[in-house]
Amino acid sequence: MAQTNPAISCPRLTVVVPCHNEEEVLSETVLRLSNLLDALSRASLIAEPSIYFVDDGSTDDTWHAIERLAAKDARVHGLKLSRNFGQQSAILAGLLMAPGDALISIDADLQDDVAAIEEMVRAYYRGADVVYGIRRNRDTDGFFKRTTAEGYYRVLQAMGVQLMFNHADFRLMSRRVVEELRNCKESNLLLRGLIPQLGFPSELVYYDRQVRYAGETKYSIPKMVALAVNGITSFTEIPLKFITVLGMLVSLFSFGLAAWALIAKFLHMASVPGWASVVIPLYMLGGIQLLCLGVIGQYLARIYSEAKARPRFIVEKSV
Ligand code: UDP
Ligand code: MG
Repeated sequence: MAQTNPAISCPRLTVVVPCHNEEEVLSETVLRLSNLLDALSRASLIAEPSIYFVDDGSTDDTWHAIERLAAKDARVHGLKLSRNFGQQSAILAGLLMAPGDALISIDADLQDDVAAIEEMVRAYYRGADVVYGIRRNRDTDGFFKRTTAEGYYRVLQAMGVQLMFNHADFRLMSRRVVEELRNCKESNLLLRGLIPQLGFPSELVYYDRQVRYAGETKYSIPKMVALAVNGITSFTEIPLKFITVLGMLVSLFSFGLAAWALIAKFLHMASVPGWASVVIPLYMLGGIQLLCLGVIGQYLARIYSEAKARPRFIVEKSV
């Protein structure tokens, strides 16, 4: 058994589970989580365990399922958000509302291996305030999901964003990390980028990504794109710097071109009256300008939504 730090006392453990239309998986999720929490309690590794399901604006029977589960087991609680706020906000709601000394966020669909929680708790005892669940393999994800996700992690890392490769939202956080998170007021939330910024001792726990227990992915392509854009605009200014450099290069090039045209005129060199040389740069520069405006627009939109400072989630009711 790994060394434990005697200074750290038995933590009250809370598991936060965001749910969007997950009625098919909930009973199995509760079963596996409560079996695990029982085992950890028996081993005196945790105290007063609880599970917080956050219903993120489900349109199916998810909320009733949560109510039924909560009625049967006092450790099970539910928060119903007033509409769909997105997985990140749902996790945040659970973290900020739930009690506990150590809080773990995990997907409802059992793709994250529940068994890894024990190792996370042991890492907590060793002094880690954050324990990142890292997917050892992604064979269970489709080719498209895997390549886009891994490519995205690499692009963000290349832009200097501190990000754990192949870590999503399966992680343990200590109470003090959650309290620091409470102070981060950003509306455009990407927890996997934000948590590493908070610092604190951390550890990694590896697990094999499972197939979704039941149902379909709740991440549509627009949701994935929104999350991806958020990761860039929230954590790096590289695209803005890139635009500046691009602008400078294009300007330099055009000055060079103008100089060359003048020299050619003074030296009476034959110049070819070309259509291509006029029209192609026109389209190209138009395209680059629109792209750059789009990038600036993305940042502007973030500033706009941050300035509005609307609530990141609204809890309609709880059980
Ligand atoms: N989820 C959520 N709100 C959303 C979309 C998803 O709370 O708007 C939850 C979902 O119920 C699940 C987790 O976030 O517990 C991850 O979603 P999913 O498994 O569908 O994504 P994937 O694993 O396919 O990336
Ligand atoms: Mg999933």
